[in-house]
Amino acid sequence: MNPTPARGDGPDAHTAAMTISTDGLAEAERARILAKAAIFAPPPATLPDGRRDLVGLSREDLAAEMAAIGEKPFRAKQLWHWIYHQGATDFARMNTIAKPMQAKLAERFVVGRPEVATQQDSADGTRKWVFAFRDTQRIETVYIPSADEDRGAVCISTQVGCTLSCTFCHTGTQKLVRNLGAAEIVGQFMAARDSYGEWPSPKDGTARHLSNIVVMGMGEPLYNYENVAKALRIVMDHEGIGLSRRRITLSTSGVVPMMDRCGAELGVGLAVSLHAVTNELRDEIVPLNRKYPIEDLLAACRRYPGASNARRITFEYVMLRGVNDSEAEARELVRLLRGMPAKVNLIPFNPWPGSAYKTSTTEAIQRFAAILNDAGYSSPIRRPRGRDILAACGQLKTDSERAKRGPAAA
Ligand code: SAH
Ligand code: SF4
Repeated sequence: MNPTPARGDGPDAHTAAMTISTDGLAEAERARILAKAAIFAPPPATLPDGRRDLVGLSREDLAAEMAAIGEKPFRAKQLWHWIYHQGATDFARMNTIAKPMQAKLAERFVVGRPEVATQQDSADGTRKWVFAFRDTQRIETVYIPSADEDRGAVCISTQVGCTLSCTFCHTGTQKLVRNLGAAEIVGQFMAARDSYGEWPSPKDGTARHLSNIVVMGMGEPLYNYENVAKALRIVMDHEGIGLSRRRITLSTSGVVPMMDRCGAELGVGLAVSLHAVTNELRDEIVPLNRKYPIEDLLAACRRYPGASNARRITFEYVMLRGVNDSEAEARELVRLLRGMPAKVNLIPFNPWPGSAYKTSTTEAIQRFAAILNDAGYSSPIRRPRGRDILAACGQLKTDSERAKRGPAAA
């Protein structure tokens, strides 16, 4: 069992001490995490015929590709606009580029999309895609429209499978096959926009159906940080998709050293999968807790930049009947969060084939929520969406395996 958190220090003193004493350690730990991510790197973004996918390249990479074929930087700027603002996938549609140049580009490059293997619509309007990549690996992406407005969130995946085995999560029963590349991550959002015809990218301030991104699909995004960061930078670029970081929320099961980098470099909204208020229980249901216990996790949340009231950290708390849903646990949660601008999302457990837990009763969830609300923490109860098509939180899983044989996806 982990040691109990140090008490007595004010949160600020504690945070400052942590930062100083753990800086070197955290750096080493980050290097270890990134090295491990590299072992599970995606295949190169090149087709069997040698053409390269332009999606997923940073602006600098794209300019370098153009330079390599003797083109000036403005060509990269043009392409960026066509790819990310207009959503064009065919060079022949890019009518600000002369025909011979279009042909030259088409010989060497493609503007790719993940292949839609299946698409399902839930009775509640949620849409789920299974996307297949060139090496036949598959992941799931979900669009959750807001019930009363013309907006909605696309829930994107970051890994095929997951190394962590949270006991209540369907993805956790699937071994990690590999990380997704930046093209595959941003490609999910672009393919979702294709599906709803939402191109060109709507101007800042105008309504969008696909208005938000939640990085809450399959996988642990902070174990694939470089690719996730690259993809999100593309999504946030003003001359392309232009989605503000305020409309992006990344959910982590608590990879503490990478939370600092995420905050410093991306500044997207942070959601933390807490799910338990004691290390004893969290060790069991979120096994990553054995490495980064609750006190370290909460310290990282307290130092997350912009954790002001306007940009509160979201704590996710899956409601498991008789496991973590007592009133005493709600009160302990209030105590743990004291002084932190936070919001708690209570997620009724979504069952999946073979899952061992039951969803908390409505009364238990409401009692839990009331205790949090009374203490000043907004704690919405997440309405399950897309359960009928196994698209709800924690239900995503594909049958992808390592070195799976099958016809290569285009
Ligand atoms: N790996 C990241 C993001 C993906 S999971 C993470 O763990 O945060 C997205 C959210 O769904 C997490 O809060 C996760 O704990 C929750 N979740 C997993 N399985 C669930 C289930 N069966 N029912 C409800 N929520 C679940
Ligand atoms: Fe992985 Fe998140 Fe599922 Fe845990 S809850 S197994 S971290 S996807």
